[in-house]
Amino acid sequence: MKILIIEDEIELLIAISNFLIKGAYVCELAESFAKADEKISIYEYDLILLDIGLPDGNGLELLKNIKKRQLNTGVIIISAKNSLDDKIGGLDLGADDYLTKPFQLSELNSRIRAVLRRRKFDGTNVLKFNEISINTESKTVSINGTDITFTKKEYDLLLFFMVNKNRVLTKEAIAEHIWEDNIDLANSFDFIYTHLNNIRRKIKAANGNDYIKTLYGMGYKFSEK
Ligand code: CA
Repeated sequence: MKILIIEDEIELLIAISNFLIKGAYVCELAESFAKADEKISIYEYDLILLDIGLPDGNGLELLKNIKKRQLNTGVIIISAKNSLDDKIGGLDLGADDYLTKPFQLSELNSRIRAVLRRRKFDGTNVLKFNEISINTESKTVSINGTDITFTKKEYDLLLFFMVNKNRVLTKEAIAEHIWEDNIDLANSFDFIYTHLNNIRRKIKAANGNDYIKTLYGMGYKFSEK
C-alpha cells in the first residue's frame, strides 16, 4: 500500500514516514502544496495524509484535485487547528477521516488501517480468493490454510492483485504502486517479473492455483478464468 504524506512540518513529516515505513507501507513525501499537487497529477496512491495549513496553499484545494483525479484514494486530513469549518469542509469534499494535531502515531495508524479496510479490502482484515487468503493486519499470506512466507514486495504485489481482481493491470501501474514514485520503469519491469515468478512458485508449492494471467502487450490480470 502506497501513501502520500503532505505535511510542511518537516519533523512531523519524517516521523510519520519512518513510522509508516516500519509498518511496511511505501511512502512518498510532499512538504508543500506545489509538490503535492504535482505528485497527485502524476502518480496514484492508496491513501493520502493531508495537512490543511500549507505555506503555499490550502490543503482543501488539494483535496478537490485529489477527488477529481483519484477517486479510489483514501484521504485523512491532519490539521493543526481544531477548526470545525475545516473539518466539515474536508469531509464534505470527500475526505474519509480527520485527525487533529498533535496525535499519537498509533492513533494515526488505526485510522489509516480503518480507511484502507473500508476502501480497499471490502471492510475486512482478511481478503480471500478461493484457497488464497491475505491477512492485512498481520501481513501474512496463507494458501489452503497454510501460512506461506512472502517477502514484503511479494506480499505487496499479491495484495495489489487481489484488491484489483478481474482488472487488467499494466506493468506501469504495478510498478508505480509497489515502488517509490521515481523508480526506473525498465528495471522495475524486471523486478515485477522476478517477484511474480516467486509468487507463482510459492503458491504452486502449496498446491494453489495460478490466477495471475499474463496478457501479452497489456500486463497482468488476477482472475479465475
Ligand atoms: Ca501545516
